[in-house]
Amino acid sequence: MNFMHKLPDPDQIKEKMSVPDEVQEAVRVLLRWSGDDPDREGLVDTPSRVGRAWKEYCSGYEEDPATHLQCTFEEVEGYDEVVLLRDIPFHSHCEHHLAPIVGRASIAYLPTDRVAGISKLARVLQGFAHRLQIQERLTSQVAHCIWENLNPQGVAVVVKAQHGCMTGRGVRTHGVDMVTSKMLGCFRDDPASRKEVLALMGRA
Ligand SMILES: [Zn+2]
Repeated sequence: MNFMHKLPDPDQIKEKMSVPDEVQEAVRVLLRWSGDDPDREGLVDTPSRVGRAWKEYCSGYEEDPATHLQCTFEEVEGYDEVVLLRDIPFHSHCEHHLAPIVGRASIAYLPTDRVAGISKLARVLQGFAHRLQIQERLTSQVAHCIWENLNPQGVAVVVKAQHGCMTGRGVRTHGVDMVTSKMLGCFRDDPASRKEVLALMGRA
């Protein structure tokens, strides 16, 4: 039996979200500044679409990513090895140009006595990615959120991403990944643990 048709369509909700006049006017000003005519047919609905799109790009401001780590499992049958989620895709926007950041993150931790559901690590990443960011801070926020909420022996986060402000403007360098990492606990203090987790991530 299919229950799906009874659920509200999230796209419909978004379509109905009203965008304040001042926000739409700001987009019109930007369109004019860019050299186009905000009154031409193709751009008439752009200001309201852009307003709704930015609410979605920045939906992370409306949540505390730590809440995803409140439900944990303690019965792990003595599992005391690394838990790794590799190459999770994400979208973010840089706070300097509002340009897209598109990348993948690998997130690992060594549990002490409890683990989180596997999808929760990805939700933590998305919660911080759906804000205006710099890659270094995104990497650090994800690592510290896991460190503080799961109390593990170690956390390792490696993020590689391409920045629209670099590929689409300025030096226009295509195909260059920026790589950042944050290591906490055993992955910071013990070279063997760090080497192991980087090998598991495929980065050693
Ligand atoms: Zn930028």
